[in-house]
Amino acid sequence: MPRRKTGSAAKAKSKAAARPWSAAEVYEAFSRFRAANPEPKGELEHLNAYTLLVAVVLSAQATDVGVNRATRHLFPVADTPQKMIALGEDKLREYIKTIGLYRTKAKNVIALSEQLIALHGGQVPRDRAALEALPGVGRKTANVVLNIAFGEPTIAVDTHLFRVGNRTGLAPGKTPLEVELNLLEVVPDEFMRHAHHWLILHGRYTCVARRPLCETCIINDLCRWPEKTVFLAAP
Ligand code: SF4
Repeated sequence: MPRRKTGSAAKAKSKAAARPWSAAEVYEAFSRFRAANPEPKGELEHLNAYTLLVAVVLSAQATDVGVNRATRHLFPVADTPQKMIALGEDKLREYIKTIGLYRTKAKNVIALSEQLIALHGGQVPRDRAALEALPGVGRKTANVVLNIAFGEPTIAVDTHLFRVGNRTGLAPGKTPLEVELNLLEVVPDEFMRHAHHWLILHGRYTCVARRPLCETCIINDLCRWPEKTVFLAAP
């Protein structure tokens, strides 16, 4: 029966824990993520690049589940910028009123739809600067759209990736941008396409904020978090 070690015993090893990951360890971690889930998918429901963009804008400070609940009714009637504008801000607000900050988000969705028509022929641009110029769209949203809609090797750092990057020591950083740039540096090319999804799912379901499920974590032995729960072989 393995013995469990937590807290202080593990903390005593915190010095060693600060050791950066080697390239071989990073490769090993992502190999395990890939083996466990070869084709990871995002959890925001969408019908096309435009509805993905809208869903990501709506998801700021909201859960994917809450956004999906609203967009399941919205997207069948408004899956293009033209249809969204025809729907109008008042009716859009009704569809999304269960989502936090819905008034501001409704305004942004209408404004970004107008800009897509005026500047991009009604299409979602495959370009970071053009995306970030849209109302309500920041770096994280642009990264999600570039990655999921266009297959670009970008990594969007949300609260889960920020926690996982720092806690594991894989890509520490004081800001989401620092974590993103560190991840871009360490993640091998062959894993870049799905790195965002593997890490977000890991943070959402295993390396959760309060009580991470270290017991079932597939990168437990690689993780540098001094407070992780580890199993020792029986004496
Ligand atoms: S061992 Fe624990 S703290 Fe480390 S990545 Fe896994 S779940 Fe997170």
